[in-house]
Amino acid sequence: MGKFFTANDEDIQRGLTTDVYFQRTEEILGSRGLLGVHTLAEFTVASLPESWPWAVLCGTEEMVRMFEGKDVDLYALPEGSVFTARTKKGIKLPVARIEGPYGQYCSFEAPALGFICYASGVATKSARCKLAADGRSVLSFGVRRMHPAMAPVIDRSSFIGGCDGVSSLKGAEVVGTKASGTMPHSLVIMMGDQRAAFRAYGETMDPSVARVALVDTFYDEKVEAMMAVEEMPGLQAVRLDTPGSRRGNMADIVREVRWELDLHGHPEVGVFVTGGLDEFKVKELAAAGANGFGVGTSISNAPTVDFAMDIVEKDGMPIAKRGKFAGRKYVFRCPDCLEYEVTLDRNAPPRCSCGKEMRWAEVKVLEKGRRLVPEERADHIRERVLQQLKGMSI
Ligand SMILES: [Zn+2]
Repeated sequence: MGKFFTANDEDIQRGLTTDVYFQRTEEILGSRGLLGVHTLAEFTVASLPESWPWAVLCGTEEMVRMFEGKDVDLYALPEGSVFTARTKKGIKLPVARIEGPYGQYCSFEAPALGFICYASGVATKSARCKLAADGRSVLSFGVRRMHPAMAPVIDRSSFIGGCDGVSSLKGAEVVGTKASGTMPHSLVIMMGDQRAAFRAYGETMDPSVARVALVDTFYDEKVEAMMAVEEMPGLQAVRLDTPGSRRGNMADIVREVRWELDLHGHPEVGVFVTGGLDEFKVKELAAAGANGFGVGTSISNAPTVDFAMDIVEKDGMPIAKRGKFAGRKYVFRCPDCLEYEVTLDRNAPPRCSCGKEMRWAEVKVLEKGRRLVPEERADHIRERVLQQLKGMSI
């Protein structure tokens, strides 16, 4: 154990974060010589949280890294695939499947699920906020609500889900971008008043840093917004982080500030909103004239996607527990409608309801533990998500 109460890479790779019943299972199967039995297991989810119609698959890269070097084959939909829990016919959609001697992956079921359940929840909530923002900027500001060891996971997942920027330094490094942020209330308090803080920010920050002033520390938002215009040359936006106790009607506050800025000849200054946002509030405030959003808790504390891993084939024979569909399945997807279908025959692509022939959607990532496809850059995965989101709704 290191200084903090977190598992390090080696702990995870050694299986120490798994549930003890997997370790016991290994012990028992080992005593009966059954650890080498060839099995196929798949990852599915029965239904999505909060009645989401779709979700964004995320976290598979970490799963691949964990299984790399083990005697397993791993297939998965590409990270960033927008998927539904079930096909139109109601069959649970396998987003990944693993194959090999059961002893090779028995103990890694828990961490494998942990990688994709949490990251997919965060990526999906981010995608929903990005869709709700209708082209406006959404930044991921939620690292402070979770254990700091999770910051890079939160930021990578939210970026892949469609957030335009992330706030943590380590998260930005993992994503391959610059961290995004504005100024905290503490800066205004420490500088003594808003005008001094706005001036100091403009004079001190590198020109590459966006000029965004936080305008709700002491006075009314529209009063401080005009102070920011006067004190910070090149002001790009004002940030409203209005406390809950003052939010009678946040949409009206946005409209008022927008009006005041326009009235004084500053249509170029945007209105950026943070604090207690989710996809529904983003949608409402976008309609009221907000230009950008910082979303925190609802993204980093997004509901997890409850994937489960289940054995569906043993020794070449289909088998499954109650509630699961046995047998080796292949996932196909329509290149146009992006709909999925599951078949038992890899060589018989089903037809989509639109008439198009579907394509095999899975990627073989590992063969006997050897990586077949290179890691993808986060911005490429994000681009794929944004493409699929076109025409989708929350
Ligand atoms: Zn189609």
